[in-house]
Amino acid sequence: MLKKGSIAIDGPSASGKSSLARALAHALQWVHADTGALYRAVALSLTKADLAEAPENTICQHLKDRTISYSIRDNSTRVLLNGEDITDFLRSEEIGRTASRISQIPCVRKYLFQIQRNLGEKGGVVMDGRDIGSVILPDASLKIFLLADVRTRALRRLSELEQQGIPANLDIIQKDLEERDKRDRTRSLAPLIQAPDALLLDNSHMTIEDSVKWILQKLPN
Ligand code: C5P
Repeated sequence: MLKKGSIAIDGPSASGKSSLARALAHALQWVHADTGALYRAVALSLTKADLAEAPENTICQHLKDRTISYSIRDNSTRVLLNGEDITDFLRSEEIGRTASRISQIPCVRKYLFQIQRNLGEKGGVVMDGRDIGSVILPDASLKIFLLADVRTRALRRLSELEQQGIPANLDIIQKDLEERDKRDRTRSLAPLIQAPDALLLDNSHMTIEDSVKWILQKLPN
C-alpha cells in the first residue's frame, strides 16, 4: 500500500465525493481534505461582511485582509477563518450557492490554490473537489471522477438536509444541482472535467463500502 501518496476525487455536487473520500481516508489512515469547504469559507466570510454580491475587485480586496487555512483534526480538515474554526457553519444551501458563484473568480481560486497544493504535497491525503486531478494535484497517485445521476444526487442532498432538520424540496434541489453543475463545467477557469488519467466511477447504485473497495483495488502498490 502507498505510504505517502494522494488520491484526487472530483465530481459534480452531491455525487458523494466527501462521504467517499472520508471513508477512503479512514480505511487508509490518511487525511481527508474537503476543498469545497475552502470555497464555502470564502462565501461565509463575504456573507458576514455583507459582500456576497460585491464586484470582483472588492472581493479580491476583502480576501487580502483575511486568512483562510486548514487544520487537521481526527484525520480530516477543519477550516479556519482568521484562526477561528468555522467548519460547522459552512453547509447551508445559501453558502453553497454563494461558493459556487465566487469560485469562478480568478483571485479566489489563486488564493485557495496554494493551501490545497501544500496539503496535497505532504502526501497521505484523499482530496475531493472539482479540479483536484486536473489542476491541484496533477501528479496524484490515483484520480477518480465520481458520477451519479442527478435524481440520485438530489435525493442524497435532500436526506442530508432532512437529517439536519432543514426543510427542502426535491425538485428545487435538483434544479439547483443542475445549475451548479452547468456553472462548474462551463467556467473558463479550472472547470469540472475528468482528467485524462482519471478513472470514472458511477456510484448511482453503489454503497460507499462498494466504492471504497473498488478504489482500493485500483491503488498502485
Ligand atoms: O463541494 P462543495 O459543494 O462544498 O463546493 C462548493 C462550491 O465550491 C462548488 O459548487 C464549486 O463551485 C466550488 N468548488 C470548486 N473547486 C473545488 C471545490 C469546490 O470550484 N475544488
